[in-house]
Amino acid sequence: MSISHKSLKIYNSLSSKKEDFNTINPSKVGMYVCGPTVYNKVHLGNCRTFISFDLIVRFLKHIGYDVRYVRNITDVGHLEESEEDKIQKRAKIEKIEPMEVVQKYTNNFRDVLNKFNLTPPNIEPTATGHILEQIEMIEMIIENGFAYEKNGSVYFDLMKFSEKFKYGKLSNRNLDDIINESRELFGSDEKKNPQDFALWKNATSSHIMKWKSPWGYGFPGWHIECSAMSHKYLGKKFDIHGGGMDLKFPHHDCEIAQSEAVYNQNPANFWVHTNMLTLNGKKMSKSSENFILPENLFNGNSELIEKGFEPMVVKFLMYQAHYRNTLDLSNESLLAAERGYKKLMQSFFDIDNLHPSNNENIEYESIIKKCYDAMLDDFNSPKLISHLFEISRIIENVKKKKDFISTKSINELKNYMQVFLVDILGFSIDSNENEKIEESNKLISTILEIRDFSRKNKNYEMSDLIREKLNSLGIKIEDS
Ligand code: AMP
Ligand code: ZN
Repeated sequence: MSISHKSLKIYNSLSSKKEDFNTINPSKVGMYVCGPTVYNKVHLGNCRTFISFDLIVRFLKHIGYDVRYVRNITDVGHLEESEEDKIQKRAKIEKIEPMEVVQKYTNNFRDVLNKFNLTPPNIEPTATGHILEQIEMIEMIIENGFAYEKNGSVYFDLMKFSEKFKYGKLSNRNLDDIINESRELFGSDEKKNPQDFALWKNATSSHIMKWKSPWGYGFPGWHIECSAMSHKYLGKKFDIHGGGMDLKFPHHDCEIAQSEAVYNQNPANFWVHTNMLTLNGKKMSKSSENFILPENLFNGNSELIEKGFEPMVVKFLMYQAHYRNTLDLSNESLLAAERGYKKLMQSFFDIDNLHPSNNENIEYESIIKKCYDAMLDDFNSPKLISHLFEISRIIENVKKKKDFISTKSINELKNYMQVFLVDILGFSIDSNENEKIEESNKLISTILEIRDFSRKNKNYEMSDLIREKLNSLGIKIEDS
């Protein structure tokens, strides 16, 4: 089936509309995604954002784009309200070097994303490795008259900027809204206006992570690293800039302002934001202590979730929601995802055992087209998955000899399922998985036989116990 990348539409947070995706260079995509701050273990909310961008990268590649995917590592801590750097604070707690903190949690981040089988970025730059580039960019902003130095710190002058540009394009905030909301409460006494944000902060003697700059020893502000690194690797203008919804303001609005102050233009054509993973209806986050670590979900060690779930099942759940919608993590949603994932995998393996026939009566091309249309419409993975279940039903009917399929179609279906499940959704299919599924089916049949035996012998206590136990594993028994 020939699909044209010309028909891809992506929702652009800048215009709040789906737009035709046209790239700056033919067949090439430059994409920058804000990475994690490595002062702690990543939680499943963070993972959802990177899992969403993996789908985007994989699909862009599948439809023929040559993608340069840049995702940074923020290894300079940002100041909290207590004026303490998060990484330095963690180093004190763990009694290790700040750079050890950074290494430890960068390793954790990569391990977790590997478990989810995510494509590594082409470039993974670190903030500490690009201090020079950040200083250079700050110097250009000062030169252009949009920043000022005070006591060894440099602030972005939002009043000056607003004379020429509009600030808050992504969040639609105006300067007055920002006064009350700014995350940067510190340094207010040195700023010309409270809305101004730090490009460089003067370091006190107790501050460990600091660098020499034209303004004395200090460290970069939060937003400048992404501007400096995205421009370094993707040029003055690139195709996609992404991150979680919560980064629109102030982080991304500040990035836009910094690029406009230097290059007179918005750095990216498309701004893509992923929605939040919630737990008990509230955003998953470390600060509110409303979070689950991936390892605890995989091992079944979470107090909130009854049992362990494999990374691919968790990823399947994430793709059952569109990336711009919120998704709530719960026992029920995970159990349903587990059933769904196993069913699709079972169908995938079943294709190999289908018996070909000369009188084919199935039609699947229209479903394959719907699968592509779903993805071309702003990467609609839940729709894609619902169409894959339609294919699964066809396979089941052929298996039950209700319908008939030709050898050519068996091969084509196998290829398409491989494309959607492995290449695009990125499920890592273990070659032993088929055997595992068959083994577990045999085990379940044996347990059901024992239950039938108990019922026949009026041992209802035992039969109810078996039903309850299977139920808690997501296996529902219906006595007919
Ligand atoms: P941070 O390390 O806090 O900068 O977060 C790394 C990425 O995870 C950012 O793109 C955030 O927007 C994203 N993120 C944080 N919490 C969640 C959540 N609950 N759901 C989805 N993405 C999140
Ligand atoms: Zn960023």
